[in-house]
Amino acid sequence: MSNILVVDDDKSILIFIEQALTDSHQIFTSETVACAEEISNNNTIDLLIADLVMPKKNGIDMIMEFKKIHPDIKILAISGGGGITGRFDYLPIAKLVGAEDTLKKPFTVTELRSSINTILETKH
Ligand SMILES: [Mg+2]
Repeated sequence: MSNILVVDDDKSILIFIEQALTDSHQIFTSETVACAEEISNNNTIDLLIADLVMPKKNGIDMIMEFKKIHPDIKILAISGGGGITGRFDYLPIAKLVGAEDTLKKPFTVTELRSSINTILETKH
């Protein structure tokens, strides 16, 4: 059982991930980076699942900030693409700034669980 914080401006993604993981983990969800920061200050978060394209603060900045403030946090970056065309791929950049793994939307429950298990197993 790990504490997992999911940040995505798309509420349907939050619901999807929460339903997929709630049997085995404590799930926190947030639609904004500001709210996510508050949750992580009040709870020990083991894994941050970070959307990369969000209206106010982008996910790349969020990942860098979380890694700085919480050095032990693990990160899974998720994105369906960004930029004007929606085709720009931010996922490799997320890895460069410290994400342990990335998943391209849309992904399945199996892919999500597999990625999370790998990240959390390599924790210690
Ligand atoms: Mg988004």
